[in-house]
Amino acid sequence: MKKKQFKAESKRLLDLMINSIYTNKEIFLRELISNASDAIDKLYYRSLTDRKVKLNRDDFYIKIDIDKDKNTLTVSDNGCGMSMEELEENLGTIAQSGTLLFKEENKKKDVDIIGQFGVGFYSAFMVSDKIEVISKKYGEDKAYIWESEGASGYTIEETKKDEYGTSVVLHLKKDDDNEKYSRYLDTFTVEGLVKKYSDYIKYPIKMDIEHEELKEGSKDEYEMHIHEETVNSMIPLWKRNKKEVKEEDYDRFYMDKFYDYEKPLRVIHSNVEGQCSYNALLFIPGRVPFDFYTKEYEKGLELYSNGVLIMEKCSSLLPDYFSFVKGLVDTPDVSLNISREMLQQDRQVNIIAKSIETKIKKELESMLEEAREDYEKFFKTFGIQLKFGIYNGYGAHKDTLKDLVMFYSSTEKKLVTFKEYVSRMKEGQDKIYYACGESVDKIDLLPQVELVKDKEYEILYLTEYVDEFALQVLMEYDKKPFANISSEKLDLETVEEKEELKKNNEENKEMFELMKEAVKDEVKDIRFTRRLKNHPVCLTSEGQVSIEMEKVINSMPTDEKVKAETILEINENHPIVEKLKDLYHNNKEELKKYTKILYSQARLIEGLPIDNPTEISNLICEIISNK
Ligand code: ADP
Repeated sequence: MKKKQFKAESKRLLDLMINSIYTNKEIFLRELISNASDAIDKLYYRSLTDRKVKLNRDDFYIKIDIDKDKNTLTVSDNGCGMSMEELEENLGTIAQSGTLLFKEENKKKDVDIIGQFGVGFYSAFMVSDKIEVISKKYGEDKAYIWESEGASGYTIEETKKDEYGTSVVLHLKKDDDNEKYSRYLDTFTVEGLVKKYSDYIKYPIKMDIEHEELKEGSKDEYEMHIHEETVNSMIPLWKRNKKEVKEEDYDRFYMDKFYDYEKPLRVIHSNVEGQCSYNALLFIPGRVPFDFYTKEYEKGLELYSNGVLIMEKCSSLLPDYFSFVKGLVDTPDVSLNISREMLQQDRQVNIIAKSIETKIKKELESMLEEAREDYEKFFKTFGIQLKFGIYNGYGAHKDTLKDLVMFYSSTEKKLVTFKEYVSRMKEGQDKIYYACGESVDKIDLLPQVELVKDKEYEILYLTEYVDEFALQVLMEYDKKPFANISSEKLDLETVEEKEELKKNNEENKEMFELMKEAVKDEVKDIRFTRRLKNHPVCLTSEGQVSIEMEKVINSMPTDEKVKAETILEINENHPIVEKLKDLYHNNKEELKKYTKILYSQARLIEGLPIDNPTEISNLICEIISNK
């Protein structure tokens, strides 16, 4: 029989496995058992949904056989089995999902992450010289044997097999300095590995186990007896009593199942009885899944009906703003045959989704309360999701989310919540101040920020483009409206100060009119301000659209462009004012030039582009050289 070559990617993974110096080689057993369990799942599912398949749940099992003489370890199942084409397709190529993940992750990390991923069937080559897969597909007559000694390729031939299902026979490698492969011939060791990695597999995993028993009729003579025993407890992790599950069990389960090499930040395990009954096991990841911000990322939870997987990504179970949550839900209340479309409207599913949302929210709240560092880590990773959640749907979910979002605080120098901000508000302060910019450092240098800080008001720094939109949707927190320090009237002055400023502005009205001519339609107004301390000018805005929003909206690839109504504000107490007044009386043309420069400065400070950079730099040179 002609030897066939593995597909390129499979070959690479295979090479990696064969030459693996990975110390945790034992995970191969978990992978084979998991494949066997999946194969049984497939057949069991058919038996429930297809009348022609008459099988009993109790008939399914996985068997592990050890043959010391032949130096083999065999994992067998009576699942769906594989036809010749399927053997070719499944074992000659890596399954799509696995491939992608492998490629993505392997770019960054090295081989030592193998154990954290579902690398599947090929991992058996870490411990074997040769593998035979003997399989008979359910409902077919012919059985086939797939055989490979690794990189050189594989063969497939017809063979005999009585029962449907699959047996994977591993011919173990010889012991060497690094690894004792013969330990996989030791019943006790293998039993331990099954318990460690595969205890929650739903089907019995059987092994022939030797026991010393009293010889019949004898009181002190013993002999060895072999019994077939089930070595796994079979209760899925999520159906276990919380008190019996160790933290590391949850961690391992999460890392294996969701291909993460970091432990989850939080685990939510709940058993709910009532209007709708379900078990849920949910995880908040500690890091962003590699595809989270790509189009390919699909939110959703695995949905089981009484322990049988019916959908891998049930999206209706999670709101978009919690799309980072991973996990599963098992409920007897949803029918096995339910379709994706039907799920959307399913009453039970909706009730469960609501209940899950509440649980996630509570978990986040308690993390915020009790484990601040964890929460901040979480928020830095997934916070933007929550802020989008406030903004999307015209604020339909703002009450759910408003206490979960955080912003950098000018006084605390760290992320704070609105609640914390409000609790610290000064007497007489009736607004929540915020400022927008690209980064905390840049905002800190904004001229407008200086005086507000000086008066010891706390300012929230908004650095992400969704931030201000979210605040606009919220409008207020605890009846305190939000105020952008670059647009709103801040009311930081006393009544007298206000009067004085008003008067001063009135008196210089004509000068401002002339200055406006220099920057034509660019600004709505030019006036003195007390918003500034040491800086000469700033640009502020009036109306619905702030400068930051103008930047965000105009950077989007649509035709819709907006313009903030801007005001050029000049620091009433800055030495530049005298110069301006002097020019107004003695050199009106020069005043216009100065205005252009001041306006450009204000734009630059706001991070806005200048339309006429050449003109402005020439003007500056002119002034520098005192022409
Ligand atoms: P994965 O399990 O991640 O899909 P594997 O390399 O472990 O990748 O397996 C490849 C495919 O081979 C599986 O998706 C499955 O279709 C098939 N397969 C593996 N083991 C068995 C088995 N015991 N019974 C039936 N099919 C199997």
